[in-house]
Amino acid sequence: MNLQANLVKYAQLILKVGLNIQPGDKLLVRLDEHGLPLAREIARQAYDLSAHDIQLMFQDDGLTLARYLHAPDAAFDRVPGFFADFREAAYLDNYHLLALNAPNPELLKQADPARISRWEKVQSQANERIMKYTMENQVKWSIAALPSPAWAVSVFPQLEEAAAISALWEKIFEATRVNLEDPVAAWEAHQQALARHVDFLNRHHFEKLHYEGPGTDLVVYLPQGHVWKGGASRIPRGDSFMPNLPTEEVFTLPHAHKVDGTLAATLPLSTRGRLIEGLRFTFRDGQVVDFAADSGADIIKGLLDTDEGARRLGEVALVGEDSPIRRTGLLFRNTLFDENASCHFALGQAYAENLEGGSQMDREQQKAAGMNRSLIHVDFMVGGPQLRVTGYTPQGQAVPLLVAGNWVV
Ligand code: ZN
Ligand code: ZN
Repeated sequence: MNLQANLVKYAQLILKVGLNIQPGDKLLVRLDEHGLPLAREIARQAYDLSAHDIQLMFQDDGLTLARYLHAPDAAFDRVPGFFADFREAAYLDNYHLLALNAPNPELLKQADPARISRWEKVQSQANERIMKYTMENQVKWSIAALPSPAWAVSVFPQLEEAAAISALWEKIFEATRVNLEDPVAAWEAHQQALARHVDFLNRHHFEKLHYEGPGTDLVVYLPQGHVWKGGASRIPRGDSFMPNLPTEEVFTLPHAHKVDGTLAATLPLSTRGRLIEGLRFTFRDGQVVDFAADSGADIIKGLLDTDEGARRLGEVALVGEDSPIRRTGLLFRNTLFDENASCHFALGQAYAENLEGGSQMDREQQKAAGMNRSLIHVDFMVGGPQLRVTGYTPQGQAVPLLVAGNWVV
């Protein structure tokens, strides 16, 4: 593998498909030290595409950890407002957001969990007023990943660090189609396929989906007014962009109170720094009434006990087994990749964008429409070569959607 040549193609994919850079656009790039070589390549190409400016939001795992382990309690009371002011001013001035993630799955292992949740809450309160710029697609934004040494070694524990990093890069390039001759053209074709599936599903207004597979026999009702989404999004002036690289899913929300049957996860779930294997659930009236796991059952119990909505589903996503991520055969231990490798559900919070007019509804209206609410949103994978998903129209017509794990529409 020629890392440098692939970095050039990856940067091009991020700029042309992820952010769809137009002359005069400006960039806010969030990164850490591992992202610098990629960011420099992105800068060269972005300016060639007539971008006007690039500003960094630099982060460092060592500084993050130092804060949790050494800062006084009072340091977690408040986030100064100027950082949100800076971002808001940038968004209003045609800056778009690129996050280059080099995650370290075990970074906060020694940190106090109470401190972490307190700080996350204080930060999200401070950032609430700027969330709308990305959540409502007022600016273009895209998330792409690159290996951190810690992530690479956790995925390839049998390799030396340098070899693990190079192996993970190779899998990232496969998963994002960067290894193909013309990744930008491949993504345009992929986007069209996603849009076809989204259109097909939205045209049929399915009343319910039936999942059948080993350990799975589940009926999931979809609320009236549910909207399937997937692939590219659009800002008000019309530019499309790809929020996640890679992305393979089309997704909507299930009815929080109308899910019945059994469901077996088909891939291990990596969450809270642990690996949960052999996970299975029984649902009645939308609620988990029984569950088991071969390992990590205590983590699942903790998740389910978070709040009332944590025992109900908030997302249903369809992914074909022939996706490039799945073909890597790798468990990435990172949601951006693993969630896009397979059909999945999420326990917990649903997305308002998946409900017609959902963003304008208050909580009671959302609840009445069947949308789940929770503090958690945890995805788990249910796809596989034996999965069959059938949609039922309100008139009772059965329409096969996935057979043997792959799309048949
Ligand atoms: Zn999803
Ligand atoms: Zn999800």
